[in-house]
Amino acid sequence: MHLVLDAEEAGALALHHDRESLRRACERVMDEERATLRAGGVFGGLNEGFWARVRAVLEVLPGLKTRRAINATGVVLHTNLGRAPWPAEAAHAVANAAGVSMVEVDRASGKRGRRESAVSDLLVRVTGAEAGIAVNNNAAALLLAVAALARGRKAVVARRELVEIGGSYRMPEVVAAAGAEMVAIGTTNRVHLSDYEQAIADPEVACVLKVHPSNFSIEGFTGEPPLEELSALCRSRGLPLAYDLGSGVLVGAEWPALAGEPTVADALARGCDIVTFSGDKLLGGPQAGLIVGAKPLVERLRRDMLTRCLRLDKAMLAALEAVLSIHALGPDAAVRRIPALARLSLTAEELRPRAEALAAALDGRAFGWSARAVTCESRVGSGASPTAGVPSWGVQLAASDASGEQMAAHLRSLEPPIFARVQDDGLLLDLRTLGEQDLVELQALLLA
Ligand SMILES: *Cc1c(COP(=O)(O)O)cnc(C)c1O
Repeated sequence: MHLVLDAEEAGALALHHDRESLRRACERVMDEERATLRAGGVFGGLNEGFWARVRAVLEVLPGLKTRRAINATGVVLHTNLGRAPWPAEAAHAVANAAGVSMVEVDRASGKRGRRESAVSDLLVRVTGAEAGIAVNNNAAALLLAVAALARGRKAVVARRELVEIGGSYRMPEVVAAAGAEMVAIGTTNRVHLSDYEQAIADPEVACVLKVHPSNFSIEGFTGEPPLEELSALCRSRGLPLAYDLGSGVLVGAEWPALAGEPTVADALARGCDIVTFSGDKLLGGPQAGLIVGAKPLVERLRRDMLTRCLRLDKAMLAALEAVLSIHALGPDAAVRRIPALARLSLTAEELRPRAEALAAALDGRAFGWSARAVTCESRVGSGASPTAGVPSWGVQLAASDASGEQMAAHLRSLEPPIFARVQDDGLLLDLRTLGEQDLVELQALLLA
């Protein structure tokens, strides 16, 4: 790769493209060459054909609007920056599945197979549920669950769980879109078991829905029945209980950052029949909606017409399979290899030396801005632990001649763009959300 990047042609391309894009483009073409070699072909060297292919990659990829950025905001699952950064295995799985892939075929018989059987099997393995399926996102998962369980009938939800997630995704509208009638019970702050009992006496009620209040918390005189009691009540009436967990913790329940977050296993153990959660929140993978629970109910969802409308692309199935395979290796592997989990697991003390080193390198040398290491608070983001800050370390940048907003705009104009947090009329770079390569690149970009 050094020889490639030192070549005269690379120097010419470097005049019009940033070094990272150039390196990536060369790497792609080198990968193709290696594949050719492995297949018994020959490497033609750094000839005109080679550089034509590098130029072809550079013609498209670096200009894409949806492209890489550096997240120094301290929000680990930043929705506007694509939520969970994928493990390398997921990115490779996508590249590998992008061409022709065995997405819906049975290899032994050569006949059509079940589309997401690998993901379903892994969901069962990592959550301990009887069955599982995956759809486009958690919004879709909930829509499907309510439609399959209560279409044309009624679904019971507590008023304190009538969440708006953002945009037009509001619980009452989701239930209506699923073709069910919502029965809201209790008050804004409290719901009792007797409220549920009264509501489900109506024979038109077909399911009870619980929703994680992802992006707010109510404090003071609040209350709800324990999940075990609610699930026992539902079971005694033969009614399914579906729980939209939002983030859905699989790993890290013991970390202070995730204190009080419900885990998927716990929701199942306490008697929920259907549990839904996102793929790109605390699972740490691609956008997806995961549904796990009792086998007959999951099968009912699978047979619903909406499942076909909400199905996942082959590339996302491959990425999801890769991420779930890492989870299947156990919690240690998941924390080590899934970036979102690795970043959340870091303690402030682990981040401190990185912040101090970055501040020392930047102070006075990046656009003449001052830089000093400071303590700060990261956020989980995407609706997990909405009110809890995670103690962290960062670098506070200050300029005599620019506001925090102006400094932020300048960092966003770099290539790749850097997103930071405006704070104290300066800029804060939170070290928690920077991967190893991000950190090296950010430092080089700011010093250049
Ligand atoms: C985030 C969230 C959703 C939406 O999930 P997506 O995967 O973004 O569609 C739904 N419900 C809850 C409780 C959430 O936190």
